[in-house]
Amino acid sequence: MANQKNNNNDNNNNDDKGFFNNPILVFVIFSIVSVMVFKTLFPQDDMNANGAAGTFGQQQKIVSYSDLKKLINDGSIEYVGIGATTIKATGKVANGEQVTYKVQRVVPDAALISTLESKGVAYGAFSEENLLGDMLFGWVLPILIFFLIWSFLAKRMAKSMGGGILGMGGSKKMINSEKPNVKFEDMAGNKEAKEEVAEIVDFLKSPDRYVNLGAQIPKGVLLVGPPGTGKTLLAKAVAGEADVEFLSVTGSSFIEMFVGVGASRVRDLFEQAKKVAPAIIFIDEIDAIGKSRASGGIGGNDEREQTLNQLLAEMDGFSSAGAPVIVLAATNRPEILDPALLRPGRFDRQVLVDKPDLEGRVEILNVHIKGVKVGKNVDLREIAVMTAGLAGADLANIINEAALLAGRGNKDEVSPEHFKEAVERQIAGLEKKSRRISPKEREIVAYHESGHAVMAEVTKGAKKVNKVSIVPRGLAALGYTLNTPEENKYLMQKHELIAEVDVLLGGRAAEQVFIGEISTGAGNDLERATEIIKAMASVYGMSEVAGLMVLSRQTNQFLGGGQTSKDYSDKLAQDLDQHIKNTLNERYDHVVKTLSEYRESVELMTKELLKVEVISGERVRELIKQTGKEIYEGGDLHQDGKNNL
Ligand code: ADP
Ligand code: ZN
Repeated sequence: MANQKNNNNDNNNNDDKGFFNNPILVFVIFSIVSVMVFKTLFPQDDMNANGAAGTFGQQQKIVSYSDLKKLINDGSIEYVGIGATTIKATGKVANGEQVTYKVQRVVPDAALISTLESKGVAYGAFSEENLLGDMLFGWVLPILIFFLIWSFLAKRMAKSMGGGILGMGGSKKMINSEKPNVKFEDMAGNKEAKEEVAEIVDFLKSPDRYVNLGAQIPKGVLLVGPPGTGKTLLAKAVAGEADVEFLSVTGSSFIEMFVGVGASRVRDLFEQAKKVAPAIIFIDEIDAIGKSRASGGIGGNDEREQTLNQLLAEMDGFSSAGAPVIVLAATNRPEILDPALLRPGRFDRQVLVDKPDLEGRVEILNVHIKGVKVGKNVDLREIAVMTAGLAGADLANIINEAALLAGRGNKDEVSPEHFKEAVERQIAGLEKKSRRISPKEREIVAYHESGHAVMAEVTKGAKKVNKVSIVPRGLAALGYTLNTPEENKYLMQKHELIAEVDVLLGGRAAEQVFIGEISTGAGNDLERATEIIKAMASVYGMSEVAGLMVLSRQTNQFLGGGQTSKDYSDKLAQDLDQHIKNTLNERYDHVVKTLSEYRESVELMTKELLKVEVISGERVRELIKQTGKEIYEGGDLHQDGKNNL
């Protein structure tokens, strides 16, 4: 959803670029236009008011009084306007031209009227225009009127867009500044995230201690996680715990119609923060401005780029000594951020704020149930079980919805039925946006991940398990097994590559062994396993088919489409394909055999995963040992000897 919003913004910007993006140009042009409009609507000149003039070409000549008299006598004058010190006369139309004559100093002449009468020239008097009046009506008034309309429109737009059109002053209202009364305890679950930001609280409380030690203080922390998981809440809690000012903005509010406004708002934001420091600046949806410059396509987006550059400049510019300002930013798409944002001294720390597991959901429900009258037989754990895959914000909604349902039904407390209905409504609403997994799918995912985890723990050369989860993350990954890589490892030995293949195949093998049917969930695993075996044979010289030969295959763009040229024989290509296929089969057989041996371990782990959704690497090892099996801790456990790659 955030994605869509940003795209809309981009489009707006591109459309409005050029003319409308320069407020000064717009102002000047509008001034001129409105003067012209005003002049036609309220003409000042008697000559025009007379109606004689108007659509013709017009010319004004300054003439002497005697010349004018001559013209009157010649009969070429149609109308004469007499003022106190000047006379204006309109000539008759000739060749589509009408000339007006002006006499600036009038000689008192009593005979004028009778001359006009005798020649049949229309005449009248007009009040003298003076310089001040001229200016007032000609220029000042139209501009004033224009300005009033302009500022009225600007205010209306500012209201609808959450920012001022005139940039500069308008941004003050856009930035929310407060001292939040939120504490860490208000955010349930996410213990690791809280631990990671606790250091910032400590620093904000006593910056001198850190500065005296010469410590480098973080300037920016990126909170990464799906929507509604409490990123804003966590940022507020940091400010609340440290008792500092909290300034919050959303990234998209920087991107406005006019180029340059975003950058000036960033400047304002930091200026304001420095004034109230120590302070936390919180930028929600930072991807709106922080999108990678490379990903912007041809031309990019000037406004966003300028805004981003200003943000980078501000972060590089301020020093945290004295009254510190720390920037927290939130995104659910860290992968699209401009790498410049993630460099040291900027958002060099990332804190994962993930969807809660079962225990986390129970805690969150407990936080939000405070103040709600619930019946005795309401079991929050039961609600937590029903809401796998939902975020904190969804849970808060459910409790509120349940209370509303009870209120509508005129009950004095919220019953389990109300909660059940609220959960169903919430899930039905969410199902349109993101798919929620069914119990059957959950089971498949649990077996699949257990298969990966067991293979990782029992295979020589495999990376140990850090965490196994069946909490869905986004649309793509239904579950994941996180492995801990060994530090400072640049080389991989052959047996380690094979171990990686075994672990990758573990997911699919588990589905086959324990469910008896394969799902589409293993597609990515197989792709990676194939890549590894192919690279071993064709790049690293680890197979007998190609020996030490490096087989390169290039896609030739000039031959069109997916034509590839290879610098090795078709025979070798066939052999290579056969080799990859055989090896995969061989490894797969081995993995199926191993998992069958570890059947109890996989079953136990799956059961526990289905219950608590996330288990640690420690716990994985414990569970395997509980079933009387060994994990790999050196030696030659379960690595079958004939790796004839
Ligand atoms: P995000 O910024 O990640 O989109 P928010 O911080 O705006 O999410 O969360 C919205 C609301 O959801 C919060 O105000 C809070 O009421 C509730 N919420 C989300 N996560 C939690 C949590 N871990 N503990 C308690 N409440 C939560
Ligand atoms: Zn997998």
